Amino acid sequence: MSFCTRFAPSPTGPLHLGHAYSALVAHDMARAQGGSFLLRFEDTDLERSKPEYVRQALDDLAWLGITWDAPPLMQSAHLGIYNQSVEGLTSRGLTYPCRCSRKDIAAALAAPQEGAPHAVYPQTCKTRSMVERGAGDAVRLHMDRALNQASAGLGFIEDGPLHCGVHPIDPAALLDEIGDIVIGRKDIQTAAYFLASAIDDMRQNITHVVRGVDLFEFTQVQILLLDLLGHTPPRYHHHDLIRDDDGKRLAKRDDARAISVYRKDGASPDDIRLMIGL
Ligand code: GLU
Repeated sequence: MSFCTRFAPSPTGPLHLGHAYSALVAHDMARAQGGSFLLRFEDTDLERSKPEYVRQALDDLAWLGITWDAPPLMQSAHLGIYNQSVEGLTSRGLTYPCRCSRKDIAAALAAPQEGAPHAVYPQTCKTRSMVERGAGDAVRLHMDRALNQASAGLGFIEDGPLHCGVHPIDPAALLDEIGDIVIGRKDIQTAAYFLASAIDDMRQNITHVVRGVDLFEFTQVQILLLDLLGHTPPRYHHHDLIRDDDGKRLAKRDDARAISVYRKDGASPDDIRLMIGL
């Protein structure tokens, strides 16, 4: 199968230098391999995603010299497909509805969870069944049951510079550090980010997922979900993040500037490449 990768921004704000880096790394890799480069807008957050950010992103990417080999995939146009995969996992007894707010979760966690990358859900709603799902309930994965049903020897191949090698999934880390993640959104009845994104990597026939290393630790959740849905995972390449001299992510700095602002100030695409070390 020939190399195929993608850039999959969430259009909830303008593209910054970190986005430019990720898109250019993936695009350059695809072109160097004689493969394909695709776009996907992860716009399932219907409140925060804005069409003007999509338009601006397309304009910025084209200005950077990026070309894509198919019309961009808009996730908001395919919500039914993601919903089917939530239903598929539900039919295997792997989901439960959750009515907890962030505040409820914070209150239920007795002590801060050291070492965990994010708050691990305290399983308050775990005894509820999907037939009780109310409007406004999210859907969570029964992580322990999911691990029991996963194929033996599950893992993924990483060829990025930071974690290069084979990564078997680590059940203890999934249980203790990731926990029962949300796979179905509560606001609209469709899959949440991890699931929708992994499904679309399959639907777009992505052979290599190229993205920032901030998503590395969540890759094993996506591998697990893909396996449960009967898919063979792609390969992964997690690249380093663009940081300032103090080590802070450029895209997260308060003064981070949109690519469109650099453009207005007269920067060229080559200036942008230089700024991000390409
Ligand atoms: N939509 C995600 C983001 O903008 C990226 C997801 C991915 O590349 O897998 O952070």
